[in-house]
Amino acid sequence: MEKVKKLDFCRLCKSKNLEKVLDLGKTPPANSFLKKSQLKDKEDFFPLVVNFCTDCGQLQLGHIVNPEILFRHYVWVSSTSSVTVRHFEEYANSVFKKIKLKKGDLVVEPGSNDGVLLKPFKNLGANVLGVDPARNVATRATKGGIPTLPHFFSLKIAKQIAKKYGRAKVITANNCFAHIHDLDEVVNGVKELLDKEGTFVIEAPYNIDFLEKNLFDIVYHEHLSYIAINPLDKFFYSHGMRIFDVVKRDVHGGSVRIFVKFGDAKHHINKSVQEFIDREKKKNLSDVFIYKKFAKKVQKNKLELVKLLKKLKKEKKTIAGYGAPAKSTTLLHYFDIGKDTIDFIVDDSRFKHGLFTPGKHISIVPTEQLYIRKPDYVLILAWNFAESIMKMHKKYKDDGGKFIIPVPVSRII
Ligand SMILES: [Zn+2]
Repeated sequence: MEKVKKLDFCRLCKSKNLEKVLDLGKTPPANSFLKKSQLKDKEDFFPLVVNFCTDCGQLQLGHIVNPEILFRHYVWVSSTSSVTVRHFEEYANSVFKKIKLKKGDLVVEPGSNDGVLLKPFKNLGANVLGVDPARNVATRATKGGIPTLPHFFSLKIAKQIAKKYGRAKVITANNCFAHIHDLDEVVNGVKELLDKEGTFVIEAPYNIDFLEKNLFDIVYHEHLSYIAINPLDKFFYSHGMRIFDVVKRDVHGGSVRIFVKFGDAKHHINKSVQEFIDREKKKNLSDVFIYKKFAKKVQKNKLELVKLLKKLKKEKKTIAGYGAPAKSTTLLHYFDIGKDTIDFIVDDSRFKHGLFTPGKHISIVPTEQLYIRKPDYVLILAWNFAESIMKMHKKYKDDGGKFIIPVPVSRII
């Protein structure tokens, strides 16, 4: 496969009636952090355009970057964030209870990363298996006690797993569901591997929050689809499956956890499903106008933050960044914030120390540097963790430092 290809039809309903609603320019892949020795190499930049399907309401990227480029060596290791760990503990506990899992039941997770969700499932007594194409992360997970196959999830892999381990009571696909182009293949794999009374659980950022909270920086090349219940409900229906429950979660600025079953399985369909669909209709999520309005709001967010940063630089203030998540690549590029504005970025993950941000080449250093170099301002790039970051670094603020939260509206705290 070539490095990037254009997608000119809807991944869910196959319609060609796509309309461009947001254009964030060209950016490098959001997780392609660089070593010092790579700084002089030529980097790939790919278009970051969001299209809307006027037939089913699906929101998706206009281009697909070859997954071999994006996922074979992944820097993000989930368990380095304590907020993420706590979130997935709650996830495992509540699913275990809701589905009434028993000890020894099989739970399989495509896109399992370092096993951050499978670990608590295992602690509850489930038999777990991860599938993750990042070989480095899969190896670490396996060594850490969570067996993980170093593959992309596919129909073929699903068949192999079913043959070797039996059918799964639960298959979970979290952000990875939004990361995969061929969702027909995923669902066919799920149908092959899932127990007839089993549950497929998906958790991903939700479009209503995306639009209302201005979360444009969750747009990056890994993130191919943006999830709403209405288009997805029709999609699963066409595959003989049904969404039977939806719950709202706070992660990533607002996500939905979606429970899917076979059409003839016993789970009763909760009224939540229709409630979500009704709310999406009420919020005009199937109207392209809503997305155009959103694009204008993003533009306004950009102008205001850039104005604030320019003013601070004019006053000779020093600014550091906090956190180098994937979303920071989108934000830094679309807002065109570089080394002339931000001196360095601190990150809690030791895996990122010594690396440089994609495209902008801002150096990433340990968090202690906040107390050594004492920047006047800290721009929180991992803004979804802003509360816990500010709590953790109360001392920086007590010593006279100030935080800037960039999204949805830039503000100084
Ligand atoms: Zn569609």
